Amino acid sequence: MEINGDRLWRRLMHMAEIGAIAGNGVNRQALSSEEIASWHLMIRWAQASDLHPCTDAFGNLFIVLAGRDRLAPPLLLGSHLDSQPTGGRFDGVYGVLAALEVLVRLREAGYEPACDVVAVAWMNEEGSRFAPGMMGSAGFAGARSLNTIRSCRDAEGISVGQALDALHAATGLPTYACMSPPAAYLEAHIEQATQLEQAQSVIGVVRGIQGKYTWQVTLNGEGGHAGTVPMPVRRDALAAFTRIAQALYQQVGGTEAAALFTIGWLTVVPNAPSVIPHRVQFRIDLRHPDAQVLQRLAIRCEAIISQQAAPCDVQLEGLSAALPNAFDPGLQTAIAEAAIARGYPAMPVLSAAGHDARYLAAICPSAMIFIPCREGISHEPTEWAEPAHVSAGGQVLMDVTLQWLMKR
Ligand SMILES: [Zn+2]
Repeated sequence: MEINGDRLWRRLMHMAEIGAIAGNGVNRQALSSEEIASWHLMIRWAQASDLHPCTDAFGNLFIVLAGRDRLAPPLLLGSHLDSQPTGGRFDGVYGVLAALEVLVRLREAGYEPACDVVAVAWMNEEGSRFAPGMMGSAGFAGARSLNTIRSCRDAEGISVGQALDALHAATGLPTYACMSPPAAYLEAHIEQATQLEQAQSVIGVVRGIQGKYTWQVTLNGEGGHAGTVPMPVRRDALAAFTRIAQALYQQVGGTEAAALFTIGWLTVVPNAPSVIPHRVQFRIDLRHPDAQVLQRLAIRCEAIISQQAAPCDVQLEGLSAALPNAFDPGLQTAIAEAAIARGYPAMPVLSAAGHDARYLAAICPSAMIFIPCREGISHEPTEWAEPAHVSAGGQVLMDVTLQWLMKR
């Protein structure tokens, strides 16, 4: 069964108009009015093909093609509709629209699947407005409680709970009592790296996702006049931060070849030129493909922070701790075989970035299909995937879905 690659591309470009920013980018943050608008478009497309849009308490969007046995665990296909503030036109939304295209084609062909086949857009994958990300998939998979998720707040003090209630009021969708665990999960996504492009390959058979730990660190010292408080008695939170950061870059970031260490967010209070900073908050993002190495580096990270904070007080809050995961071998084989059968060059790849599939992989057989994106650029307006690759990934998603359904 052939997907309609032109329709998939048109819908991608149509969706990119919602939250469009300069330079062809997209700002469609989690549970924003832009994301709600993207839901309305999804709902319109779903209803035009006689598919059923639904939601759940976590604010996940489900587009359901009902199966013969409604009580059987469903097959889920999806990704996310939210973006970074400087997002591109493909990250996340590609996997959602590829999933929708598969459902629309199955419906057009009059195919009646054995179980529900569901296109899903997970709530807040990016974690830029509400941290940490992957809230919808983590909640669905039972890794985070609804209360914890609802109580998280954005920079304006709006809670996820308030934003979820607004989303549900604006869209008025029925609840989908999705069987959990589902039977399987497939996610198509742009690679956000250059392995495929460098190898001139089209389909990445994703082996797994590297592990990731994130922390928020708060250093509390004492403020004071920059011109009067003697250096030896100061409890300067920014000075403590510089010691900690230096040690972390050297002893965590620079020790293992595959370790990736980032401090990407920092606030200094009061951030005034002639006032000693009394508080510094920063976040650490640490990744490694090997679980043991990652855990060892995480322990070292925490030790350095506690040792170097004095004379300031330190609060260390773990935001997420995701060990590396491996995807289902059977689904990986199915993806590779589908690519070969279509004549698309394929290769195994490891995902450096995190995805919702990480949480699904903990509860059901899961896999990801990568397509190349130009120069690996993502989370930037210049993010770009070739139309032919967009179609190829969608077709492989269709072929693997059909093959999976045939075995039911
Ligand atoms: Zn993504």
